[in-house]
Amino acid sequence: MNATAITDEMTMQRLAMVEQLRTTHKIADERVLDVMSRVPRHLFVPVAIKSQAYKDNALPISGGQTISQPFIVARMTELLELTGNEKVLEIGAGSGYQTAILASLARSVFAIERLANLADEATRRLQTLGITNVTLKAADGTTGWETYGPYDAILVAAGGPDIPEPLVKQLKIGGKLVIPVGDDQRSQTLIRVTRTESGSTQENFGPCAFVPLIGEHGW
Ligand code: SAH
Repeated sequence: MNATAITDEMTMQRLAMVEQLRTTHKIADERVLDVMSRVPRHLFVPVAIKSQAYKDNALPISGGQTISQPFIVARMTELLELTGNEKVLEIGAGSGYQTAILASLARSVFAIERLANLADEATRRLQTLGITNVTLKAADGTTGWETYGPYDAILVAAGGPDIPEPLVKQLKIGGKLVIPVGDDQRSQTLIRVTRTESGSTQENFGPCAFVPLIGEHGW
């Protein structure tokens, strides 16, 4: 296949993935579906498994980590209820795929990835795609990123035993934190925390499975 044929094939697979998100997974936020129909997920996975990029499952990336399943990316993004003006903090940038989605739906994204080589690769990919509203650093994200806070929304893409207190503190009043939490390193519950005047409220969105959140307020 020549380069144009490959691009067309990837686009067709991407649109099929979005249809599945809409019909099977009941993702209803059109802005989320639209951006996922445009961001080239195949450029965020290792070249050897590019042909699997649009399957609805997590895939291995370097450092023993994973690029999250498209459904969970869509679900977590939808739960943040972004309208375009937000300042977002993302913990566990990994490949940078979720970062690219958030960057299209919010004003700015501050992203943290624990593993330096993944952070470097993600930064390079985002630059190649012309995404300029992301600031990404390699660090432990469980303490947040106080310099740029407070945030309208925080997304954590790795699972810890508890909700890291610094992240709740770095939310604006009304701000939302979406995070997998569980006392087992392999399975968690997806939680949405909303910061209120007097503290915070929590909603439960069912079981999920993420790689461990490793750090001061994680494992
Ligand atoms: N959204 C990413 C998910 C990557 S997997 C994607 O779709 O590609 C989760 C990532 O969280 C891993 O890359 C892991 O290295 C990172 N991580 C784990 N603990 C972390 C921490 N304390 N701070 C920042 N990143 C962390």
